[in-house]
Amino acid sequence: VKTIGILGGGQLGRMLSVAASRLGLRCHVYEPGAAPAGEVAWQVTNAPYEDAEALRAFADSVDVITYEFENVPTSALDLLESLRPIRPNRRALAVSQDRLTEKTFLNEIGLATAPFADVPEQADLEPAITRIGRPSILKTRRMGYDGKGQVRIGEGPADWTGAPSVLEGFVDFTAEISVIIARGADGQVAAFDPGLNVHREGILRTTTVPCGLPGKVTTDAVLIAARIANALDYVGVMGVELFVTPQGLIVNEIAPRVHNSGHWTQAGCAVDQFEQHIRAVAGLPLGDGRRYADVVMENLIGDDLDRLPGLLKTPDMQVHLYGKGTPRPGRKMGHVNRIIR
Ligand code: ATP
Ligand code: MG
Ligand code: MG
Repeated sequence: VKTIGILGGGQLGRMLSVAASRLGLRCHVYEPGAAPAGEVAWQVTNAPYEDAEALRAFADSVDVITYEFENVPTSALDLLESLRPIRPNRRALAVSQDRLTEKTFLNEIGLATAPFADVPEQADLEPAITRIGRPSILKTRRMGYDGKGQVRIGEGPADWTGAPSVLEGFVDFTAEISVIIARGADGQVAAFDPGLNVHREGILRTTTVPCGLPGKVTTDAVLIAARIANALDYVGVMGVELFVTPQGLIVNEIAPRVHNSGHWTQAGCAVDQFEQHIRAVAGLPLGDGRRYADVVMENLIGDDLDRLPGLLKTPDMQVHLYGKGTPRPGRKMGHVNRIIR
């Protein structure tokens, strides 16, 4: 493998491109919209996913295709898959694109999720609430991220999301953690230490490692992630979000790609999640994922960027900026990794 095709040109594609270039590989980024990754990649195609001509030229120019964005239309994937291997595979993508499919799959392989009900349309909401109870959370099956497409259901009348949804029982968790795990084409698996995640307004704010939970919990979390990766015959890096409860671990969702809660690995490991993903999809041996520092990762969202002058002067502070232009509320502009000695 010499050239890697990346579907999606956001900050994840950008950081994947940097990691690939350090390994002497080139990236060709395919992105319909604005592309922070385009500034650092070898080549960028700025075309819609409906453009068969552009998709074909993209596939012709690369050896393997991966993605940093899981909502690529099926028609585009069908065409691309007929020309080049897609890693992680289509099943991993299909399962994680749709919250109903995702939770059903997780339960099938013996993993706990929040109780859930299918809510195809608004008329199905009341019966679903009767079954699942209150409080609960209504989430669109597809396309949601950073808490978008979600409605909290408390005591009053319930809003509708406007699209086919799932209703999830509210999990009274003590903590949120995530496991970033890599699996190679040969089935080799390497996991990073689970991180403790804190969200505000549905958006990840900080990830801290070590997560401070007992060894039994972190080991269980890694085993759960490995079970998911094996069941999907997964190749690449995957993020698994979990709720910690007194009754055990509950899987919230999986992301078939590098994950925001794995950004700490840039400052905490010799081989970070981006390099690990590139290694896996390129068929190279995985790094070991061992952590050599304690790290707090903090996202820079919206006008958090005003703090940049101070952050740049702070010792042991690694600053990452995505080159996105104008800050908007809720927009991820960068992140910092603070190394704790
Ligand atoms: P991401 O950006 O991580 O993809 P998302 O839009 O897919 O986010 P979720 O991860 O489903 O959203 O939910 C966002 C946050 O909302 C969770 O990290 C958690 O804090 C809270 N949350 C989601 N589902 C539940 C639940 N069933 N019970 C309690 N809290 C929940
Ligand atoms: Mg999500
Ligand atoms: Mg999430």
